Amino acid sequence: MTETKFYYDKDVDLSIISGKTIAVIGYGNQGRSQALNIRDTIRDTKGDFKVIIGNIKDEYWERARKDGFDVYPISEACKMADIILSLIPDEIMPEVYEKEIEQHLKKGKVLCFASGYSITFHFIEPPKNVDVILVGPRMGGKEVRESYVSGKGFPSFIAVKQDASGKALKIALAIAKAIGSTKGNSVLIEVTFEQETLSDLLSEQALAPLIMAAWVAKYEVDVENGIPPEAALLELHLSGEWAEDFKRMAEMGIIKQLPLHSRTSQYGQLTRTNRLLNNEEEPYYKQIKAFVQRQAEKIKNGEFAREWALEEATGYVTLKKLYEKFENSPMIKKEQETLKRLRG
Ligand code: NDP
Repeated sequence: MTETKFYYDKDVDLSIISGKTIAVIGYGNQGRSQALNIRDTIRDTKGDFKVIIGNIKDEYWERARKDGFDVYPISEACKMADIILSLIPDEIMPEVYEKEIEQHLKKGKVLCFASGYSITFHFIEPPKNVDVILVGPRMGGKEVRESYVSGKGFPSFIAVKQDASGKALKIALAIAKAIGSTKGNSVLIEVTFEQETLSDLLSEQALAPLIMAAWVAKYEVDVENGIPPEAALLELHLSGEWAEDFKRMAEMGIIKQLPLHSRTSQYGQLTRTNRLLNNEEEPYYKQIKAFVQRQAEKIKNGEFAREWALEEATGYVTLKKLYEKFENSPMIKKEQETLKRLRG
């Protein structure tokens, strides 16, 4: 295994993008935050690069104009740009790429993604004479902006798929700095497009489902034991205690933060986790791990990507049905009622 490469603010030189025009394509979650951050970086560093927006003509277009940006149809923005930040949803990207972006990918241009998805699954195959890079914030769009404004920064993955210019890594680092990722000396870790895709999707398709299933089970067993549903929900996530615990895990580490809990809690958490990991009690760790491995296999062999492309093509029917099912489940209905009552 090769050594992991870390980069910090000191490793980045913005002059590599001097004189360049960056087009942010898609003024959504990531697009808006990244565009605002780039504009502030230009102001704060007296940078001589430029940011423009490419979007379809709808309310996001208007929002970008109101935020003071020059906004163009996607194709026009890509024509004007030296660096194209493709920040539209992964399942939409191939079609937009084919119709609006591809024809403008002339020699020397840079195509930058925030997710490895379209390249990993070969939905997009850019010409060989352009740089293809990834700058993937490990944060949602809202936090990308908030972390910039607070000066905290946010970690990102960076990757290079094609290095036509011989400068692709340096350009990726400069984009990461321009979007505010290296503020507060926040870290950039170099991965491959395929690694970013697998790790990201596996968090969503294995980790999140296991957590959500455990959440539902805990709620149901609490309620079956006569605990008021509202109290059960407060104990679960509505008090925000777990959110604080996760924050401390990120800051101190999973085990190092444990002493901040009562000793009863520390003992309960460690003994029961140990039993699962030692396969002494069901669901055995080997069963949990097998679930994770199965999802990894389906991601790697393209099964999930085909499933998701079909879902997009058929109007997100399953996604809509599942939203309806979960929103109408007893636990979520009670959760929404409880939230209203908590606000007084
Ligand atoms: P959003 O759904 O917020 O962005 C949507 C943008 O894409 C909007 O500007 C929207 O324009 C545009 N868009 C949607 N459909 C079309 C279409 N058919 N034609 C042209 N434009 C379209 O996406 P995110 O910001 O969440 O994600 C963008 C990228 O960032 C993805 O690759 C994602 O994987 C990655 N990423 C996202 C993170 C997150 O937390 N959200 C975290 C890290 C990476 P309009 O609404 O005006 O139609």
